[in-house]
Amino acid sequence: MKVIDRGRLERLMDTEQQRFVDEHPRSHALADRATSSLLGGVPMHWMAKWAGSFPVFVAEASGARFTDVDGLEYVDLCLGDTGAMTGHAPGATVAAVTRQLGRGITHMLPTEDAVAVGEELQRRFGLPYWQFALSATDANRFSIRLAREITGRPRVLVFNGCYHGTVDETFATLDGDRVVPRRGNLGPPVEPAVTTRVVEFNDPAGLEAALASRDVACVLAEPALTNVGIVLPDAGYHQALRELTRRAGTLLILDETHTICAGPGGCTEANGLEPDILVVGKPIGGGIPAAAYGLSAAVASGIARHITLEDCDVGGIGGTLAGYALSLAAVRATLESVLTREAYAHMIPLAERWADGVASAIDEAALPWHVTRLGARAEYHFAPAAPRNGAEAAASGDFELERFLHLYTLNRGILLTPFHNMALMSPATTEADVDRHTLVFREALRQLAG
Ligand code: PMP
Repeated sequence: MKVIDRGRLERLMDTEQQRFVDEHPRSHALADRATSSLLGGVPMHWMAKWAGSFPVFVAEASGARFTDVDGLEYVDLCLGDTGAMTGHAPGATVAAVTRQLGRGITHMLPTEDAVAVGEELQRRFGLPYWQFALSATDANRFSIRLAREITGRPRVLVFNGCYHGTVDETFATLDGDRVVPRRGNLGPPVEPAVTTRVVEFNDPAGLEAALASRDVACVLAEPALTNVGIVLPDAGYHQALRELTRRAGTLLILDETHTICAGPGGCTEANGLEPDILVVGKPIGGGIPAAAYGLSAAVASGIARHITLEDCDVGGIGGTLAGYALSLAAVRATLESVLTREAYAHMIPLAERWADGVASAIDEAALPWHVTRLGARAEYHFAPAAPRNGAEAAASGDFELERFLHLYTLNRGILLTPFHNMALMSPATTEADVDRHTLVFREALRQLAG
C-alpha cells in the first residue's frame, strides 16, 4: 500500500466518530452545555481541534494515565504537550506545592527555593544567571526584549515552521523568499515582516545571508524543531549557527521548552551548545505555571547597565507572579525529584521502543512514512525520509489522515499530542503502555489498507 484511499479514510473516520460519540455521553453533554458560556464551547479555542467531534473532559489524571468523565481510562502520550512530561500529579511536586500552599502562595519576596532552583538550572544548562516567568511564551518575550536592548537592533530571526508560544515576532512564515504572517495569525500588531526574518532550518548559507545586514538582535531557535513534527539538526549545524550568530553580533536564544526531552539539561547539555540566553518552561513546574530564562555572563553584565533601580519594575519585563513562591516550590521539587537523570534513563529507552514499534508497523504496511526521535519524544511523519526543515515537514502534513489516526488511538484508550503525530514518555510510562500503542497503530494501518 503506497497511497491512502481517501474514500476509505472518510468512511473509517465516520465509523470512528460514531464510536467516539457513543462512548462519551458525559463529555458530549458537558461539551453541549459549554457552548452557551465558553467561546466555541471550550476554555481555550485550540481545544476544539482534537480529533473527536468534541473534546474529552478529564475527571482525573495520575502518572501516565487519565480517566475521563465517562469513566474511560487512557494512556497519555500527549502529556499536556510536554506540560506533564513529569507524569500527572508527580508525588514530590504535589507534596512541595501542598506544603507551600499552607505557607503563603505569593509575597513579592524571594524564597529559598528560588536560590536552589537557580543553582540547579546553572548546573544543568551551564548558564550562570537565571530569571523566572510563568510561561515559556513570556520567557521568550522577555528574552527577545533583553536581546533588543543589549544589541540596539530591531529584528528577530526565527526558523520556518517554528512555534515559541504566542510571541508576536514568531508568527511569521516563509512564502517562497517572502516573510508572511503565519496562517491563522489573529490581529498581528504589525506585519511580521517588519520585525522578523525567517529562514529554513539546516541552511547555514541562508542564515548567513539573513544576518549579513547586522540588524538582527537575536536568533530564537529550538535546538531541534518540535512543533512541525521533529526536525533534527544536521551534523555540524549547531556549530555553524553559533559561529554565524557570533560573527554577526546576533545573540542566540535557545528555547528548550520541548527539547528538554533530550536530557536533564536539554540539547544544550547533551550536545554542548553555547546559547547566550536559554528558555525553558512547561514541565519544569510539573504542571504548575513556571518558566525560566538563563543568561550568559556577558548578557547579564550587558543588561545590568541598562536597568536602573528606580525603573526596574516598569521595563517591559515582569509579571507580579513571575518567580513567585508556589511556582518555585514546584520547580525545585520537580527538578530535584522528578525530572532526574534516572528518570531520563527510563524515558529515553521507552521512546526508542515506541519508535521501533511504529517503524516496524509502517514497514509491514509498506507505507512511505518515517519515524524521528529526540530523547524521550518520537514522532511519525507522512514522508519517506526525515524532513530537514520546516517546509519539508509541513509538506508531509496530512490533516485528515492525522485526525483519523488520533481518533482511532483515542477510541482505544491512547492519547497522542494533537496537531501532529508525537508521543512523549514520562517517568511513569511503561513498556506495556508503549506496546499498547504499537498494537493499536498497527491495527489502524491494517484498517487503512482494507
Ligand atoms: N516554546 C516552545 C518550543 C513551545 O513548543 C511552546 C508551546 N508549545 C512554547 C514555547 C510556549 O509555551 P507556553 O504556551 O506554555 O507559553
